[in-house]
Amino acid sequence: MTDICIVGGGASGMAAAICAKEENPGRAVLLLEKKNQLGRKIAATGNGRCNLSNQACAGVSETLDFFAGLGVLTRADETGRIYPYTEEAAAVRDALEQKMEALGVEVMTSAEVCRVEKNETFSIELGNRILQARKLLIACGGKAGAAFGSTGDGFRFAKSFGHKVNKPVPVLTAVEVKEDMRKLSGIRAKAAVRLCHRGEPIFSEQGEVQFTATGISGICVFNLSRFLLLPAGVSFADGFDEYQIEIDFFPAYDTLVPLLETRSAQGFTDERLLQCLVRKPIADMIWRSAKGDIIKTAALLKAFPLSPCGVKGWDFAQVTKGGVPLCEVDAETMESKLVKDLYFAGEVLDYDGPCGGFNLQHAWTTGMRAGKEMAK
Ligand SMILES: Cc1cc2nc3c(=O)[nH]c(=O)nc-3n(C[C@H](O)[C@H](O)[C@H](O)COP(=O)(O)OP(=O)(O)OC[C@H]3O[C@@H](n4cnc5c(N)ncnc54)[C@H](O)[C@@H]3O)c2cc1C
Repeated sequence: MTDICIVGGGASGMAAAICAKEENPGRAVLLLEKKNQLGRKIAATGNGRCNLSNQACAGVSETLDFFAGLGVLTRADETGRIYPYTEEAAAVRDALEQKMEALGVEVMTSAEVCRVEKNETFSIELGNRILQARKLLIACGGKAGAAFGSTGDGFRFAKSFGHKVNKPVPVLTAVEVKEDMRKLSGIRAKAAVRLCHRGEPIFSEQGEVQFTATGISGICVFNLSRFLLLPAGVSFADGFDEYQIEIDFFPAYDTLVPLLETRSAQGFTDERLLQCLVRKPIADMIWRSAKGDIIKTAALLKAFPLSPCGVKGWDFAQVTKGGVPLCEVDAETMESKLVKDLYFAGEVLDYDGPCGGFNLQHAWTTGMRAGKEMAK
């Protein structure tokens, strides 16, 4: 029997364990992690640099205080993304682990919880043994990045307690398109991506677009993927037909017609019209589709159309959209509104943010709140 059991040793679970012990050192805190090491995902975040928050996030100062308490010095880049000073994600994971050890959190790794239920107290089943806890935090993450341990168990546990789980969808991931992209594979272009639904623009962001053999990738494309959602009941095969993606290779220009006309008058004709404006494979593709027409060429440079047919799946996605609805949890305490002494934190909840530190910030904030509350 323990006072507080935390299922999941990722960002939210570790933040919760630390805050619970700091709030009330007398409470016994047990953290159970399926993998043989805590925080495997944290070590992979931000391409190994751990973009742990963003100056634009609510709750950022609390997070920075928390990390200062762990001895993690941070700094923000020019866009407001916050990283550890050394940009070493594994060191953030280590600092969390060391703090838990110093505070006396009991940790079990290679401890996969397979079932949880509540009678008088919570029963937590781990293969061949059953543990008991007075308070339980589900911090198992979502389904994104399954190699790091999050395979959707938290959704199963939430449902077993009567919670709803909004359909989990992989987001912050590359987008696949119907067009043959093989000739563009490997090219990068500073551009803007625009997502249109039934002809109406619903999302636009500038950044570096990376072309792959099957579609497009890059941070702006990852952010776009959050809005590329299948209507309920529609099959994956033709579900994205209502969407179109447009790539604007010249977001700073209203139109390319005067520029192209000037170049044409200067003698840059045929394929040379687009030389040094876009990379050659893109120029060839645009030139062929526009059949040499300057007006059409200018239009394609501003809105190069692609037809999305899917997103890269769970193994590639960084985040899960969907999960336990936020309205079923008390936002101040993270306690379930359905089951007393049951708490949720992190990606198991139906929250997803854009790239830039918003998702880890959500994990820290909800973990800290749950930890403090459970220890009271
Ligand atoms: C490659 C990658 C890069 C990313 N980079 C960034 C970034 O730079 N900035 C940012 O803000 N966000 C980033 N994210 C997203 C961010 O990492 C997650 O949103 C965040 O880690 C979620 O925290 P969590 O605690 O809810 O879940 P997780 O960190 O996924 O942790 C859940 C833990 O629970 C364990 N677990 C699951 N089921 C069980 C079970 N049955 N029993 C016991 N343990 C279990 C898992 O093994 C895992 O350790 C990235 C994600 C990925 C995949």
